[in-house]
Amino acid sequence: MTYSNINYEALFQQSINRLKSEGRYRVFNDLERKAGSFPHAQSHITGKTVNVWCSNDYLGMGQHPKVISAMSEAIGRYGAGAGGTRNISGTHHAMVTLEETLAELHNKEAALVMTSGYVTNEAALSTLCSILPDCIIFSDEYNHASMIHGIKSSKAEKKIFRHNDIGHLEELLKAANPLRPKVIAFESVYSMDGDISPIAAICDLAEKYNAITYLDEVHAVGMYGDHGAGVAEREGLMERLDIIQGTLGKAYGVMGGYIASTRTIVDVIRSYASGFIFTTALPPALAAGANASIRHLMESSEERKRHQYNVGALKDMMLKAGIPVMPSQSHILPVLVADPVLCKKASDMLLNQFDIYVQPINFPTVPRGTERLRITPTPNHNHAMMFELTRALVWVFERLGIKPDMSVLDKAA
Ligand SMILES: *Cc1c(COP(=O)(O)O)cnc(C)c1O
Repeated sequence: MTYSNINYEALFQQSINRLKSEGRYRVFNDLERKAGSFPHAQSHITGKTVNVWCSNDYLGMGQHPKVISAMSEAIGRYGAGAGGTRNISGTHHAMVTLEETLAELHNKEAALVMTSGYVTNEAALSTLCSILPDCIIFSDEYNHASMIHGIKSSKAEKKIFRHNDIGHLEELLKAANPLRPKVIAFESVYSMDGDISPIAAICDLAEKYNAITYLDEVHAVGMYGDHGAGVAEREGLMERLDIIQGTLGKAYGVMGGYIASTRTIVDVIRSYASGFIFTTALPPALAAGANASIRHLMESSEERKRHQYNVGALKDMMLKAGIPVMPSQSHILPVLVADPVLCKKASDMLLNQFDIYVQPINFPTVPRGTERLRITPTPNHNHAMMFELTRALVWVFERLGIKPDMSVLDKAA
């Protein structure tokens, strides 16, 4: 037998080169976040202190004293790791407490925590859609990669509806066999455009066509509603949703993901989801930290108010300065560049000349031609910082000749 002379190294290198030639090779900033000085961090790339404008630690809870002390206390008391999967080694009591808090937060019977929001979407959707016999899943075209992977691995029939398009969703529901089980999967805040889905209208359709609803509130938990339960809480819709999914890693500032739902649905996912069963549980210190963060944001609206105020102030400032801020209904302020190479260059210039860190967002995270800088102000940013950011953006956009045509957004959708 002779074997062909395959150059594996060259094959791998080729695919890296393809990314580089398209201007979308990902370079991560090497950052040292410091408790107490967020949104400032030390960049080990520039060697300087930078102002971070692209963190998903939206409310700065990652450095909140209550969260830090809950975690250090828990480490001292319980030790470092969870000691195994919950299936083999039992559930740590800190996790039981956290799941009770989450159920209370969303006003549901039960909750189930997993190692991340990604794992939760993948595990919950794949389980749900493969357990329901002959199920059809209706999925918003802009759904997050984790939902898409979960749906794919369920092998259920999938219908994709145009982003936030109720008419299209109804068309697809109407065309489906009324006897087949149906799941509608969507998000509340879409994290790359900052727009918000018509949750009430989707729930109406779910009722009319007897479907169950799965809502990803990853970019909304902690930040919307009187207790931070998300957009569904703000709009008084929590009880109309069958499954609410969230993360503990963004606004709550720690790590982990979860669903909140009925006792039966939680039990079925606990019992069947491979991505839940066969992986080591989150350390008890993370559970304690997340619990402290959620509890704090259930009682305090202070962070949410300052956050929303800053979002409005920065948005105004940027629009007045002629910066192409995309129409957003949330705390996410995407600025359109519409070119992958310029997007990376703009980000590099902001970092190297202004000590401002905003990561470029390119394909496949967003459609080609809609590359952008995604800006997320926090309560920890102040007016002077916003002014500095706005001035830097104006300078960089002028220097690079960035004048995007906003109509590319309509074409991309
Ligand atoms: C980040 C994200 C997730 C994954 O959550 P992690 O806790 O970071 O794994 C899920 N859904 C959406 C919409 C996200 O943006």
